[in-house]
Amino acid sequence: MTNIAPASQADVVIIGGGIMGCAIAYNLARRGVQAVLLEKGKMVGEQSSRAWGFVRQQNRDPAELPLMIVGNRIWRELSAELQADVEWRAGGILSMAGNEAELAHYEAREKLEREHGVDSRMVTPEEIRGLMPGFAGQVLGGLHTASDGNAEPLKASSAFAAGAERAGAKLHPYCTVEGFTTRDGKIASVITDKGEIRTETVVCAAGAHSSKLARMVGLDLPVRTVRATVAATEPLPEITQLAVRGVEVSFRQRASGSVYMAQSVDNSADYDLTLESFHHLRWFLPNYLENRRMVRLHIGKPFWDDLMRAMPWSKARRHPFAHAVDLEPKPNQKQVQRSREALMGYFPHLKDVRIERTWAGMIDTMPDMIPVLGPAPELEGFIFATGFSGHGFAMGPIVGRLISELILNGGASLDIHGLRFSRFAEGKLGAAGKVR
Ligand SMILES: Cc1cc2nc3c(=O)[nH]c(=O)nc-3n(C[C@H](O)[C@H](O)[C@H](O)COP(=O)(O)OP(=O)(O)OC[C@H]3O[C@@H](n4cnc5c(N)ncnc54)[C@H](O)[C@@H]3O)c2cc1C
Repeated sequence: MTNIAPASQADVVIIGGGIMGCAIAYNLARRGVQAVLLEKGKMVGEQSSRAWGFVRQQNRDPAELPLMIVGNRIWRELSAELQADVEWRAGGILSMAGNEAELAHYEAREKLEREHGVDSRMVTPEEIRGLMPGFAGQVLGGLHTASDGNAEPLKASSAFAAGAERAGAKLHPYCTVEGFTTRDGKIASVITDKGEIRTETVVCAAGAHSSKLARMVGLDLPVRTVRATVAATEPLPEITQLAVRGVEVSFRQRASGSVYMAQSVDNSADYDLTLESFHHLRWFLPNYLENRRMVRLHIGKPFWDDLMRAMPWSKARRHPFAHAVDLEPKPNQKQVQRSREALMGYFPHLKDVRIERTWAGMIDTMPDMIPVLGPAPELEGFIFATGFSGHGFAMGPIVGRLISELILNGGASLDIHGLRFSRFAEGKLGAAGKVR
């Protein structure tokens, strides 16, 4: 990793040092491509170090499921491949149903996933208690996928960054992309706060900031960012190796004994209104209405700060990401307390659970809750790997592979047509997904 200015020319410039950017850089560099990765803050400082760590094939959109089936195989060998312990645990994933509608949803998922060869199966409340001794919650049943697992986000994302460097990629933390030049409908260069880089290929893997970057080259990418809160407990006696989407609280336990948990019910995500909120309403309204119980709207400092940045005299016009370096979103402590109580309700023998750490992350959410992968046809050389809508940590390894194939071979080895950028212009969006 280097703080010196990036080279003035590169085969591929990757924007964003999260798991996507790092996995793409790793895969490209291994195949001899001169890849330069630019990150506006510290490496893996945003979503990719803040996730829960669920790695699931379960409950995937049909456009994502085949990718995650291959992705699951990569995860199993990832520590060996990257020469670093990513804390992979093949403990399975369990999603619990608290009402008949959720039960029916999971039954439909079981059918779809089994058709794809995934080992998902419905389990009864008794079987859930068998899978998780000591569990005392009230549920109607659930969906269990034994081949799924979990891993540690900071370790896995950092392992990709280290692997990329070892393979010869140049990683530049604290180097912000502030613009682009284009020529004859093609990307020509990337402008950073440390100089200009000539290139014919750019990958936008900038998470919650991708929409703003896309707008700089005239591309309209509809993204909303929601704030999600997580808490980590003190080390506890082993409760489970499963990653669990519970009715009230979702959780997984690390090998150290610490439990990562977050609320799964009403108001489990915070939405801070900004000027961006008024764009693309027609796409986001159905999604919001479907999930409105889950999201709590806030109008406050983020809105007024954003308004000030839009004023003609604001420095943000020249340095539009300066305010977003090393962002530290505020965790919602009410949610933390509710999660803690719900966890203790699920496992009464735990008695008193102490919270050791809380944090929040800004999730990039698309109207149809699936990412954008692949080129923007309007601008040759501009490729998206973004919009992972709260479930992209698991997809990092396969996305790294597919985007490198796209760049090197002109096509990916798996079908990513359903994730194309042009679906917005075509008006062919999947049904707004309910967040489960
Ligand atoms: C609380 C929480 C829980 C989650 N749980 C899970 C889970 O259990 N399982 C799962 O699969 N997924 C989960 N996710 C989602 C997952 O973390 C993301 O989908 C994934 O990390 C996205 O990776 P990324 O590389 O696209 O984005 P990020 O990790 O956000 O990286 C994007 C990077 O781009 C950089 N950047 C932006 N603009 C610029 C610029 N102009 N110049 C230079 N750099 C720039 C940013 O600084 C950032 O570091 C969770 C997310 C959160 C927040």
